[in-house]
Amino acid sequence: MSLSDAELERYARHIVLREIGGGGQARLKAASVLVVGAGGIGSPAIQYLAAAGVGRLTIVDDDRVDLSNLQRQTLFATADIGRAKAAIAVERVEALNPHVHVVGIEQRIDRNNIHNLLEAHDVVLDGCDNFATRLAVADAALDLRIPLVSAAVAQFEGQLAVYRGWEADKPCYRCFVGNDPEREGISCAEQGVLGALTGMMGSLAALEAIRAVAPFGEDTAGKLLLVDALTLRFRTIALPKDAGACMACGESTKKAGR
Ligand SMILES: [Zn+2]
Repeated sequence: MSLSDAELERYARHIVLREIGGGGQARLKAASVLVVGAGGIGSPAIQYLAAAGVGRLTIVDDDRVDLSNLQRQTLFATADIGRAKAAIAVERVEALNPHVHVVGIEQRIDRNNIHNLLEAHDVVLDGCDNFATRLAVADAALDLRIPLVSAAVAQFEGQLAVYRGWEADKPCYRCFVGNDPEREGISCAEQGVLGALTGMMGSLAALEAIRAVAPFGEDTAGKLLLVDALTLRFRTIALPKDAGACMACGESTKKAGR
């Protein structure tokens, strides 16, 4: 996939990076990324993926902008209150980068629709606000063998990981969170969250989605980044694959004959 003169200039700071170069930029142009949730994590993730020149962006969010979102959801302005987040996200991406083909989907993701939504994407970035959706996205990503970039925040803590659980030595999301479908999700509304922290985790999620498309540096799949904003401490730990007990990737590994 070739780049026009305007694209070469737009992406010059990427292209000059030896680890990305023209080849990596062309891979970004050829890539399609699904972003689940245009909220505190999704906002910067969408902005950076659009700015980076990801060729196709699909943004799924069934929510409308509320005044209390504006403390952290930087895609939206005060005048957007009451409007659909997916539609505004599309407008903002189109304004930022006309080379991106962007589609907004105003739908709530569940187990019935996630496969169709996710198919034909190269990466999925999950910044949604509830555990049931996260599980549905993670299971479908594993099934379809699509790398999952998962970012989450609560109060002053952030988490980020990339999952490719179909690989023999890489964990899936359920290796990390377990198999309990009834696990309670606690929302930002209940416990609060520092806005700038959601921005940082969303930016890191975009970085990992870009790495998944145009690899640079180390492979980060199977590592978990933990951010503690109270102490400004960043830790990265290895997530083990729970091949024996994990009902998601344990079986998947067997199916693949590994
Ligand atoms: Zn697993």
